[in-house]
Amino acid sequence: MGRSFRIKVRMRRFRRRHPRVAFAIRSFMIFSATFGGAYGFIAGSRAEKSGYDPNAFAIGASFLFALACLGLATLSMRLRFVNKRLRSLATHNEALVDRNWELKEAEERARSLFESQSDLIVLRDTQGRITFANDAYCELAGQARSALIGTRFDFDVLEQGDSALESNGTRVHDQRIATPIGARWIAWREGFVRLDAGQPAELQSVGRDVTDRTETERALSEARDQADAANRAKSRFLAMASHEIRTPLNGIIGMSSLLLDTTLTPEQTTYARAVKTSGEALTALIEELLDYSKIEAGKLDLEQRPFALSTLVEEITELLAPRAQAKNLEIAAYVDERLPLDVVGDAARLRQVLLNLAGNAIKFTAHGGVALIVEPGLWPNEISFLVRDTGIGIAPEAQSRIFREFEQADERVARTYGGTGLGLAISERIVKRMGGRITLESEPGRGSTFEVSISLAPAQASTGQTTFPSPDLTGNSILLIAAQGIEASLIARRLERWGGQTCTVSDVDVALALLPERSWHAVLIDRALGPEVAARLGDAARSHAVQRLVLLTPATRHEPLSPAFTGYLVKPLRAASLAARLSLAPEVASPELAPEPPAEASVTPSAVTKGLSILVAEDNEINALLMRSLLTRLGHRVVIATHGEAALESWLAAKSAGTPYHLVLMDIQMPQLDGIEAAMRIRTHEAGEGGRRTPILALTANTLVEDRYACFEAGMDGFLIKPLDREKLEEALAGLAASRHLAV
Ligand code: ADP
Repeated sequence: MGRSFRIKVRMRRFRRRHPRVAFAIRSFMIFSATFGGAYGFIAGSRAEKSGYDPNAFAIGASFLFALACLGLATLSMRLRFVNKRLRSLATHNEALVDRNWELKEAEERARSLFESQSDLIVLRDTQGRITFANDAYCELAGQARSALIGTRFDFDVLEQGDSALESNGTRVHDQRIATPIGARWIAWREGFVRLDAGQPAELQSVGRDVTDRTETERALSEARDQADAANRAKSRFLAMASHEIRTPLNGIIGMSSLLLDTTLTPEQTTYARAVKTSGEALTALIEELLDYSKIEAGKLDLEQRPFALSTLVEEITELLAPRAQAKNLEIAAYVDERLPLDVVGDAARLRQVLLNLAGNAIKFTAHGGVALIVEPGLWPNEISFLVRDTGIGIAPEAQSRIFREFEQADERVARTYGGTGLGLAISERIVKRMGGRITLESEPGRGSTFEVSISLAPAQASTGQTTFPSPDLTGNSILLIAAQGIEASLIARRLERWGGQTCTVSDVDVALALLPERSWHAVLIDRALGPEVAARLGDAARSHAVQRLVLLTPATRHEPLSPAFTGYLVKPLRAASLAARLSLAPEVASPELAPEPPAEASVTPSAVTKGLSILVAEDNEINALLMRSLLTRLGHRVVIATHGEAALESWLAAKSAGTPYHLVLMDIQMPQLDGIEAAMRIRTHEAGEGGRRTPILALTANTLVEDRYACFEAGMDGFLIKPLDREKLEEALAGLAASRHLAV
């Protein structure tokens, strides 16, 4: 089958290739067949013994004729069939011609598109010879396409930029090349393409002229570097300037404190106090400016450390309580029990924000009070800090403006209250940096509520306790006798959360009538109603309440109390103190006044450390005098050195005499040998000799983080920020004693 097919195919091919020879062979064969047939018949019929029979001949001829007719009919049918196939092939052929034409057109279009691209396109064979280059490439090369094709032409590379390899094998790189129109930056994308199956792949390079972009980027980066340098210089300048301002301020504040400790006439006292207050206001202003510049320079580094939420908030209210109480304002805090006990974040910065908001709230409130409420926010881990006041409020048009730097809601009001208009700008930036937001709701004349919402993750509890310990007061009735206000409502809210049935009464007569109504678990009486009224209420409660607690302000804490009371609580109330008081067994709490929890007690640090010999290295005469006075008053012996060299000599002399200093207070900026260098030398001596290490505290007006690092790197144990006062010094000495750095 296969063989005959192959023979047929060969014969057909032969016929196609040599049509004339085929025609001659065919004609010869027909002629010989016809001639042979006719000759045979005639010769046969003429022979004598042929037995020719005309009838048989007629039958035979008819049969042959019929056979011929059948052959003709079959041939005609085949012819028609072949014609039909030919027509369909012609149609198909036409379609192919159209398709071919379309393809040619598309190829032409693609080629012209390729050629007219503004990007440079060049194809090279394996030997690096150009096989195609588009118009843009030819134009940049300054040569005709025909001149480039087949050559190994390439641009001179002036600079090679970054290069990267993509996952699909494409190499991406930048080059600065020399062209007839000057140096240009080209961003190339190069990869191998196979144009024809069976042919080796060609390297296709597509380049985009990015000169403008690259140069703009370079200019921008240079400008940024310059701006950074300028910013650093500005921060440095601010730090220097603040140092220079703080040093004399230190003298002013310190000297006026010393002056106030001497015997003065009332008039002199007023003047000295005014000097001190102005100095302190100036220090606060410098600190705000420095803070602002730090935030502006992007130097705000946030810590991530666990801290106790309620302690932070309660400390803020306690810190501000004297200011609020001096204006006859209430101040109270409320931390929702659903919140974690400890969270992770930057407690110092959060304190700064809340202190500013709560400080403003006190500043702009004349009647009523200020509340700090901490609640869970909208999102998981989000905490809302609400600072609410009943003050002057803020007009709607000023509400967004006041968050901008140096903006105040009302110029006239600002003149009355003072301030720089930086506090809210700083607070907002800190909160944004923490990933949170500050919102404000306020109505003129009715007060304002600032809400800080930030995400603070709960800390891993070391004690296993994660939420606030709340006593169970279910079924206990508590009577709260106090003026209706922020504090009373927050205490009532807290007691109710703990399950207590709370009744708040502000009218004394109503309270007296209510007392015998039932047996109360506790009665809380605010001494602000008046000492006599409070005592009367306490007496009346004796037979109706197991616990009779009086609410005091820090100022009235030391005044004598009626024995009718079983305990006292200091306002603003700490939730833990309230919880501790209410969960005490009555026999423990009664009949004497139980002492306040130790959290509120203070230890006098000076009791811990006394009689130290201290070397003070300080070049500023007034500051040195101030340090001497402060330390002598605290019971210490002081030697002053006016520069680093003298300090080092004095330290060495004391050591070799067998009476080494207990402590060195070292100013950082000093002539000859600065504080850092002097401290390093002391540490080097100590390392060589062994023995005890003298604690060194830096005295600095610089609050920049890098300065602090420099102090620690030089081997100092801590630093004291100028201006110094007695409390700061005492605190630092107590801190050293507690950490066993000071051996007396
Ligand atoms: P400063 O208090 O130093 O002026 P702030 O940025 O803290 O600067 O506040 C900007 C202004 O916003 C204030 O001057 C005041 O007009 C307004 N403001 C801020 N807090 C309150 C508030 N609790 N009640 C009324 N006005 C406020």
